Amino acid sequence: MNDLERLDKEYVLGSYARNYTNFVRGEGAKLYDESGREFIDFASGIGVSSLGHAHPKLSEAICDQASKLIHISNLQVIEPQARLAQRLVKLSGYDMRCFFGNSGAEANEAAIKIARKYGETRFETKRYKVITLKHSFHGRTITTVKATGQKEMHKPDFSPYPAGFAYVDSIDAVYEAIDDETVAVMIELVQGEGGVQPFERAEVQDLAKFLRSRELLLIVDEVQTGVYRTGEFLASQLYGIEPDVITLAKGLGGGVPIGVAMTRLKEIFKPGDHGSTFGGNYLSTRAGLTVLEVLEREQENGALAERIERFSRYLERLAESMPERFTEAVGLGLMRGLRCRDAATQGAILEAAFAEGLIVLKAGRNTVRFLPPLTISREEIDEGFKRFEKALATL
Ligand SMILES: *Cc1c(COP(=O)(O)O)cnc(C)c1O
Repeated sequence: MNDLERLDKEYVLGSYARNYTNFVRGEGAKLYDESGREFIDFASGIGVSSLGHAHPKLSEAICDQASKLIHISNLQVIEPQARLAQRLVKLSGYDMRCFFGNSGAEANEAAIKIARKYGETRFETKRYKVITLKHSFHGRTITTVKATGQKEMHKPDFSPYPAGFAYVDSIDAVYEAIDDETVAVMIELVQGEGGVQPFERAEVQDLAKFLRSRELLLIVDEVQTGVYRTGEFLASQLYGIEPDVITLAKGLGGGVPIGVAMTRLKEIFKPGDHGSTFGGNYLSTRAGLTVLEVLEREQENGALAERIERFSRYLERLAESMPERFTEAVGLGLMRGLRCRDAATQGAILEAAFAEGLIVLKAGRNTVRFLPPLTISREEIDEGFKRFEKALATL
């Protein structure tokens, strides 16, 4: 055990099963540890470092902002916050307003509060129940972990949990589960933590239509899928739906903590209904504006689509050429996975990849997950897969 590992174990609570490689620097999709060893980053800090590491435009914007103003409070108007809200709404094409927090869980918490208030004020008798899906993931606070449809995450250690959530196995099963206390359905369009599992476009569209006809809310958790991760600004656009509430976080700040709940219920919150000390401050919203500026251009000029195609080709080739190891390539855009035939090999693949200098993630029980920076270069993609194939050969 080195000094840093000892320090971490002595003073940091043990809630993570950590790797103790000490990364000190990054550039693009490359990371360097303290000994100067290079790694290719196919994880982006779990879909966060959307512009890769040390992107010159983002670093410059953050430094510039930090040298002027980082934070005042939400008691004052915050110019980059207002501009980012406008940008998000414009890019979405939906008629919405935004609430800013600092994480995915907080964005979902805001979405649930929006749904609860709507359920309290819109109907004669109170509606408060939110239906979520099996294998979903919505966060780690007491409420959002309860919203998460994985029963094993509702550990009794942390009970009691808030009431008002119901879980279903599939989108088909939502209809049956709706009762006169139901106010909303919350889904990810591509389940991330659950195993990189996209839903069918038609079933999502049917659900959206049905909920609208009943005046029930569709909350789409785009914390992982949002901000161009699937190739479009929002996965909701790819699916051709207009949700009532959309939440974003991971990729939006390029590493600076930020979360947003966007809703077409533009009048839902009155002063005092909700708040956040840090949410939407100068630094995070300036970072968000810069990330959007870069990625919007990357999408428009076709560079993002080209990366997606290159990345997909590698995954499909691997799934085809190694049927004994992988059953299929899954996912959308640069939110991808390889489904392992034998779930027991998932951990070994991650370890072998790391040993070859490549960082990949797991998802669900049997999926190797890929969330590379959205700005990853051709050479970085090629080199990453070279290392991945080398790693597979060692198993
Ligand atoms: C990561 C994630 C969250 C939680 O985000 P935090 O920033 O960790 O609170 C919520 N929903 C989805 C879909 C996620 O992928």
